[in-house]
Amino acid sequence: MPSTARLGAINTILQRPAVSVAPPESLQELWAKDVFSLTAMKSALPKAVFKSLQRTITGGGKLDTSVADVVAQAMKDWATSHGALYYAHVFYPLTNLTAEKHDGFIAPQSDGTVISEFTGKLLVQGEPDGSSFPNGGIRSTFEARGYTAWDVTSPAYLMDTPNGVTLCIPTVFVSWTGEALDKKTPLLRSNAAMNEQAQRLLRLLGETEIAPVNSSCGAEQEYFLVDSAFTALRPDLQLAGRTLFGAPPAKGQQFDDHYFGAIPERVQVFMQDVEQQLYRLGIPAKTRHNEVAPGQFEIAPFHEAANVATDHQQLIMTVLKATAKKHGFTCLLHEKPFAGVNGSGKHVNWSIGNATQGNLLDPGTTPHENLQFLLFCGAVIRGVHRYGPLMRAAIATASNDHRLGANEAPPAIISVYLGSQLEDVFGQIRSGKLEGSAKAALMSLGVDTLPDLNKDPGDRNRTSPFAFTGNRFEFRAVGSGQSVAGPLVVLNTILADSIQWIADQLEAQLANGSPLEEAAFAVLKQTMEEHGAVVFGGDGYSAEWHRVAVEERGLENLRTSADALPVLQRPEIRELFERTGVLSPVELESRFEVYAEQYILAIEVEAKLVLRMARTQLYPAVMEFLERLTRSLRDQQELGLAPDRSLPSQVAGMNQQLISQCAALENALHAPPHGAHAHLRHCADTLLPLMQEIRSAVDSLEALVDDSLWPLPTYQEMLFVR
Ligand code: ADP
Ligand code: MG
Repeated sequence: MPSTARLGAINTILQRPAVSVAPPESLQELWAKDVFSLTAMKSALPKAVFKSLQRTITGGGKLDTSVADVVAQAMKDWATSHGALYYAHVFYPLTNLTAEKHDGFIAPQSDGTVISEFTGKLLVQGEPDGSSFPNGGIRSTFEARGYTAWDVTSPAYLMDTPNGVTLCIPTVFVSWTGEALDKKTPLLRSNAAMNEQAQRLLRLLGETEIAPVNSSCGAEQEYFLVDSAFTALRPDLQLAGRTLFGAPPAKGQQFDDHYFGAIPERVQVFMQDVEQQLYRLGIPAKTRHNEVAPGQFEIAPFHEAANVATDHQQLIMTVLKATAKKHGFTCLLHEKPFAGVNGSGKHVNWSIGNATQGNLLDPGTTPHENLQFLLFCGAVIRGVHRYGPLMRAAIATASNDHRLGANEAPPAIISVYLGSQLEDVFGQIRSGKLEGSAKAALMSLGVDTLPDLNKDPGDRNRTSPFAFTGNRFEFRAVGSGQSVAGPLVVLNTILADSIQWIADQLEAQLANGSPLEEAAFAVLKQTMEEHGAVVFGGDGYSAEWHRVAVEERGLENLRTSADALPVLQRPEIRELFERTGVLSPVELESRFEVYAEQYILAIEVEAKLVLRMARTQLYPAVMEFLERLTRSLRDQQELGLAPDRSLPSQVAGMNQQLISQCAALENALHAPPHGAHAHLRHCADTLLPLMQEIRSAVDSLEALVDDSLWPLPTYQEMLFVR
């Protein structure tokens, strides 16, 4: 029998009334209803103004400031006609979260009346406090000025909550001194850097009509749903987003019965609610299914331009969390909420392309003849080989460390999976003779009534952190709770750098009179000789790969964030970002400081929670149990029986151990070393292992102590009661 508190939670759950969701309107009616989209703008703006704005949005270039007033007026009219009284500049600080500063449209007049007002100046620029967000020492509290500036390329939208409607305007966030304090600014810069080099390479390949090249992103979001009646009893889930204690249930995911299984009805209603909201926001949610672990699910939108996809990804996380609450769930975006079952990732599908040449990472059916594809793909391979550690650093968080390399998620060693067909083509290039590509085959299923299936030329590899999947790369090591901006910035930047190198080589060879094909082949051959070591098609989980990768191929295995974050301070990384104009040295250093601080804070908060929960919730439960046991022992002795003492002795011994382990953690927590690097190491090498020891002791006790005394909802309850 569970404890009274847990029983109460279970009863609440069993009696939850079904939440009803408005019956789905037609997709056409819902779609982008709350977005000030190009279509909405077209009907609201004078033709010349619309054309000018559209030019900036689709073709890049500076916005004509004279149009801002007109756009602001139209935007306000549109928003107020939908019930908005407020507007907010929405920005993306380095915390992975979304921030908003709300202002009313209200403007008091001298005669005591008010009008609603929104000028071009208010649309284009805002001024939130620049020092209240982590900025890595760029701004101190007395130098507070920070600015937000309208990002024309990401559409404004309405946030419709029970508290009213707000017009939301996506913006960048910079300091008074001009440094980026956010994740959007570098993303836009990285895209510009990539565009410049990609256009250059396309020109070298003989293209004359070249539209701006943009990166695209489709991010698959995994998450857990746990009933909020259980989360209310778990301080760890509330504050850390993961369970710091919990013995594995008798049944976990061993039966493989959850993945793609029928979605539980309550969850389906939740998903439908989420999707309807996303559609209204113009977010193309496409795929939904159960994930591997019990209680784990996935939502994947159709891909969009990287900048817009990133803003939409932030909105997806916001909508998931808010909607879960409404349905009596807590949505956990942590990478490893439960030990022993799979964690959550966010696969970032990424490619580059434009309106004239299409997807530049599309190999076509005969990739060996597709020079354009080979050069762009070669550039990706070179980028990953040169800057794999930077990719690792871009996904380094305290929470993602629990997942990477845990034989369920890719290892922390960054390699590239190409699939057998492309691996073969690039192998041929390396050996100097390019003869052909393996063909995509038809697969017969041996039953007349079933169609033949088109078999992809390459298989999938779930163990690779960075896999080619047909016409894009999938960065699979990204964490579920992360902003996708950081990973996209790194991918765009390393690609810009590598395309530049390839274009330089190509230009030099062409200047020497080489024909284009010969020159391209020579550059590709050199690329593969120098960087082919990063291509790996085998089992990324195997111990053998960990050895080969490091010892024979010279790849780095940066296991923890404490190992990975200092990569941001390496000279070659500073040069990369400075050369491409994506981050100045000051901006890069501030990022190291912010991310290091977040890592340290996350672990220290968890350590404090471990102590608090162990001492105030678990130790008392164990003592109560021990007292019952000893009382019964005494009674039995009085009756002249010979009771078995092994259980009380075992429990008493483990409890003693728990007390001394807690003391050790407390001492370590209160004596952190000086300096960011030592502090990072202290968290990774001292605090985490001590926390793990305490957890092991508690989890063993959970399996012994009377269930009616155990205060924390168990794994079995949280994962299976719905
Ligand atoms: P899987 O789980 O099989 O990897 P999903 O359908 O769940 O596939 O997700 C694939 C994601 O990749 C989708 O978001 C899809 O839109 C995205 N995608 C497809 N083509 C591209 C592309 N060219 N650039 C970026 N993302 C893409
Ligand atoms: Mg998927």
